[in-house]
Amino acid sequence: MKLQMVDLLGQYKKIKNEIDKAVMDVMESSAYINGPKVHEFQANLEKYLGVKHVIPVANGTDALQIALMGLGLKPGDEVIVPAFTYVATAEVIALLGLTPVMVDVDPDTYNLTGDIFEKAISSKTKAVVPVHLFGQTADMEEIIKIAKKHNIAVVEDNAQAIGSVYTFSDGTKKQAGTIGDIGTTSFFPAKNLGAFGDAGAIFTNDDDLAGKMRMIANHGQSKRYYHDRIGVNSRLDSIQAAILDVKLKYLDDYANARRKAADYYNQAFSEIAEIQIPVRSINSTHVFHQYTLRIKNGKRDELNKYLNSKEIPNNIYYPVPLYEQEAFSHLAGAVEFLPVTDMLCKEVISLPIHTEMTEEIQNIIIDAVKSFF
Ligand SMILES: *Cc1c(COP(=O)(O)O)cnc(C)c1O
Repeated sequence: MKLQMVDLLGQYKKIKNEIDKAVMDVMESSAYINGPKVHEFQANLEKYLGVKHVIPVANGTDALQIALMGLGLKPGDEVIVPAFTYVATAEVIALLGLTPVMVDVDPDTYNLTGDIFEKAISSKTKAVVPVHLFGQTADMEEIIKIAKKHNIAVVEDNAQAIGSVYTFSDGTKKQAGTIGDIGTTSFFPAKNLGAFGDAGAIFTNDDDLAGKMRMIANHGQSKRYYHDRIGVNSRLDSIQAAILDVKLKYLDDYANARRKAADYYNQAFSEIAEIQIPVRSINSTHVFHQYTLRIKNGKRDELNKYLNSKEIPNNIYYPVPLYEQEAFSHLAGAVEFLPVTDMLCKEVISLPIHTEMTEEIQNIIIDAVKSFF
């Protein structure tokens, strides 16, 4: 039996007929760029998320970049960003000449909190980018409240939590990525809603921002060959849109399969004292983009080596705090040390989780982890 972090082939095989037909239809239509499929997927995703505007783009990194460009930030403006995230979140901030102000995260949910955010605000703070890490939504009610008070824009990096639902204290529910001013996502193949190549999208309920970001994604063009501003070329291919439109129908089933696998792991690992199983946030559902354990006895690297030697797939998301990366170390706004981020980079390890998990597969992984302890 072949073990892998994600089983993209197994997932494809289950819906192969539908996917193949959708792709062939685009091939036959020859509408490869900006075809009807892109608009159909956009409309279906708007409906699923309950958001006014979905702007399809080429990947999740572009989505973040275009979101920050849409806000009209100026070089030197500060953008607050967690240091425990994928590099793209902070990279686009630096790329635009903005100052990434790196902050710590909650030790249980690994997400930004209102307290951490508020302490990092200065007179130059213009935006905050909470990341819904590993599949659950950050505490958006608190973050939004503080952002409003200080007139700070909120861009949710929702590359890892599409389909996660956040519940406000008054019972209102919203989809992750639709709560702040702008949300962004990635449809990288291994993400929860994965294309068969690169793809991404931006979400907003703000008509004005939507217009700006659509224009930026399309060479700053207002009408054909008239360019109002400097933009980029970032489009979602029609073939990817057709694939995503098929897979969107299964997104909730996929999340359920991931949650079921996570529950099965939890049962097995909760009895091991050295392991901290994933802590579920009280106001967000979890779509388990990753199933991430904390190894509390200082033996994370040993476990990693042990599992590798037994050919049990595992990964460390993320091994190095962003402020220790060479690319960021000399930037204005750089911090030297954040204790929770530092601890997480030393303690976390992610095990295989995907939509095609079986108890048989999980038992092999569980037995290997147990035999280490
Ligand atoms: C995957 C990811 C991105 C980037 O998405 P791409 O489509 O690979 O450009 C950004 N932020 C986070 C948190 C991610 O996991």
